[in-house]
Formats: sequence, structure tokens, C-alpha cells
Amino acid sequence: MKEETTREILQCAAEHAARFREKITELPQRPELSYPAALETFRETLPERGSAGSEVIGELAAKAEPGLHAMTGPRFFGWVIGGSHPVGVAADWMTSAWGQNAGNHHAAPAAAAAEAIAANWLLDLLDLPRESSVGFATGATLANFICLAAARGEVLRQAGWDVEAQGLFGAPPVVVLIGDDAHATVFSALQFLGFGHDRVLRVQTDDMGRITGPAFAGAAAQVSGPCIAILQAGQINTGAFDDFAGMMPIARGLGAWVHVDGAFGLWARATPGKRGLTDGIDEAHSWATDGHKWLQTPYDCGYAIIRDQEAHRRAMTIAASYLPPTTEGERDPSHFVPELSRRARGFATWAMIKHLGREGIAAMVDRHCRVARAIAQRLSREDGINVLNEVALNQVLVRFGAAMPGEEGDRLTQATTARLQADGILFAGGAVWRGRRVMRMSVISWLTDDRAGEVAAGAIIAAWRAVRDGTEV
Ligand SMILES: *Cc1c(COP(=O)(O)O)cnc(C)c1O
Repeated sequence: MKEETTREILQCAAEHAARFREKITELPQRPELSYPAALETFRETLPERGSAGSEVIGELAAKAEPGLHAMTGPRFFGWVIGGSHPVGVAADWMTSAWGQNAGNHHAAPAAAAAEAIAANWLLDLLDLPRESSVGFATGATLANFICLAAARGEVLRQAGWDVEAQGLFGAPPVVVLIGDDAHATVFSALQFLGFGHDRVLRVQTDDMGRITGPAFAGAAAQVSGPCIAILQAGQINTGAFDDFAGMMPIARGLGAWVHVDGAFGLWARATPGKRGLTDGIDEAHSWATDGHKWLQTPYDCGYAIIRDQEAHRRAMTIAASYLPPTTEGERDPSHFVPELSRRARGFATWAMIKHLGREGIAAMVDRHCRVARAIAQRLSREDGINVLNEVALNQVLVRFGAAMPGEEGDRLTQATTARLQADGILFAGGAVWRGRRVMRMSVISWLTDDRAGEVAAGAIIAAWRAVRDGTEV
């Protein structure tokens, strides 16, 4: 096997990665290979003998690239995901190269310190209570789980039950209030925590997927005893925000722990132009959000923010004889997440905030919202295209064949979405909203600018006209 230096191997990877990123704007917005084809590309029996590092990296790039989706490109509007900014990627490479086990601050002082400072910056940026603790998790799914674990512990502690020690068997029942349009992963978190995803009191939402004050009051009237209320900043389809200011006094009256899923929507707080959408949100007890969405860090990165640091620690702390004890006032990253050994996510977060700054983050969020609105306005002017949501943030919900009855509109919407995906000029996915097929767009990549929005809107209109003219309606 060829002898290689560490430098040669790392430079080989940097070369492949840079080449991939340099063509990202031009790449079609769809993978060239399907999953079965990608499987065939990788299929081979277990290698008996090893290969040189740079050969392995070269082969990996050659095999993977045709099966990659250009998710970091400027016209990727699928789901709600960030663009994995090169500065974050570079910091993440260093994170891997440094190989720090970020569990505790004695073993990895720099990793723990960068995380502690990045946590303070996040609280400042999002203007949340500065006494809050922040757990650096894999994403909002786990951040929701962490926050709800702390909520579970605290509402039961107040009812005289130690759930961390005794578990849920025999515990006083906890009522979980949750909106009808909460994200699927929040129901998963409830499932992991022993609450059950169906054993909840669902609160009706309005046509944008928001919980309104009156609906919340109606549900609250049925509650007695320990209660967790789960609210949302940024509905996955419409981008809508629950009426926090209207609900907080009611939640306080119940003595409920209020948790907010703000995977992307919480970032509205980072810009004066959108901050009003989140009024009242800082009165909650916990907030889950993502770094790998609007902050553009690479995967995986989410934040569990909890006002009651003690409740947070009680729910997550790992103690073992071989781990150094923490003294008063010291912060170990592992106190705030379920994992012990994990990557040092603080570095990429620190780097992205340092790179963009408060102003750059605000400008980016504003730009995405402006592009979403411009796309919606242009599409709305085209006969047969309907934008279904109020574009208050960065999400656009589109239905084609506006005048068509349900089934025909569904068919035209699916056909247009499929045509766009085959064209590959942009990527937007499908969903069902209020029983009808829709195409959903999320403007959230750091590379997406006004021009990308114009190209996308033009391509959508062209695809719609082609589908419409190919049908005998
Ligand atoms: C993306 C998202 C989640 C899940 O976050 P992951 O980072 O994918 O784990 C939860 N809630 C909302 C509203 C989201 O947009």
C-alpha cells in the first residue's frame, strides 16, 4: 500500500470537497442516480485487503457524487434545511481533525469553552432569557426531546414525584397540550418519553396551522394537574406562528411548562423585521431550534434551550466514577444532552455566528423572507396557480389547477411537482395540506438570493403551463 502523510490524505479530501462545492450552483437539483443505482455503485464484497487513504477518498467521491442531491445549492427548496455554509463546514473539518471528545471540560477545555460562548451568543441572538442553559444536540428532534424531558421532570417534581429516579410507573398523570399541526418529530419525542404520541390533548389550529388564544383557552379549561403545553414557531408547511402572547397568561394560570418548537421559526427573532411574529415567546420555559437550518451549520446541529438550568441538568446528567465531578458553576457539554461521547458542535456554531455576525444573520433571514414573498407574488399572478399560505416567513405553499375540483387539482399539483423535479432547475417537494396535495417551498439556503428566486418562479410557471397544456381541461 502506498505510504501517505496525513497532510496528503486531508488535502485529497479538501480537493474533492472544494471541487464539488464549486459546481454546486450549476448542478441539477436532483441526484443523477436513484437509490437502487447508488446501491449498485457501492455494492462489493467486504474488502480483504486495505487500500491507500487517498485512493479510498477518491473512490468514495467518485461513487457518492452521482448519488448526491445538490441540497447545498441555491435553488433547493425542499423540506426546511440550511445550506451547510463553507465556513461551518471548515470549522467542522477542524472539529473532526482535532478529534475532541466533547463530553467534559477537563478533557476538552477548548471544545467546552467554544460551546459555552456560542451558547451565550445564541441566547443573545435569539433574545431568550440569559440564565437559560443550552444543550448542543443533533437537531431539533433531539432538542425537542431534551426540552420535554426537562419539562417532564420538573412538572412531576412539583407534583412530588422524582421521574428521573422512579420512572413513569405510578407517577401522577401529566396532561400534554399540543397543536394539531405540530411537527411529526415532536410526537416522536413524546413517544420516546413515555407520554405516548396519542395520549395528548390536541388543540385545534386555524387555517394556517396556528393555535389561537381562544382555542388554547378552550383546551386549557379541560386541564387539571401537571401540564406541559407545546407551542410552535414556524409551522413546517405554512411557516405560521402560534399566538404566544395570547396563550402565555392562560398557560401561566395552569402552572404549565410551556415548550416551543422553533426549529427554524425561532430565527425570526434574529431580525427586527420579523421579530414581532414571536412576541411573548420569551415567557416560555424551553425552546428547541436548529443550527443546521437557518444558521447554516453543517449537519448535525440543534439546540435545546431551557430556562431552568437545574431541570435541564436533572434530566440529562450522566455520573460515573471515571468521569471528573463538576464543581459548582462549571459547565460540561454532556450535562445538557443525552450523549456522553460526541462531536464538539460548539466549534461550527461559534464559527458561523462569528462569520455572519448579528447583522449578517438578520440580513440573511430578511432576504429569505423577501425572496419567498416575491416567489409567492409572481406565482399568484399566473392563472391556475394558487398560493395557499400567508407568506409571513420563508415558506410558500402552492397548489396548481386552482379552479379544479379536489382530485383534478391534486393530479395537476403532483404532475407539476414531478415535472419540476425531473427538470432539475429547482427542487421542491410535495405534501398534503388540509386534505389537498400541495407543493411546498422553503427559502432557507445562504446561497439563495433574489435572482435564484426569480429563476425558480420562472421555472415553476413554465412547468405549470406545460402540464396544463398537455391536459385536456
Ligand atoms: C425540521 C423541524 C424539526 C426536526 O428537526 P431536525 O433538525 O430534522 O431533527 C422539528 N420541528 C420543526 C418545526 C422543523 O421544521
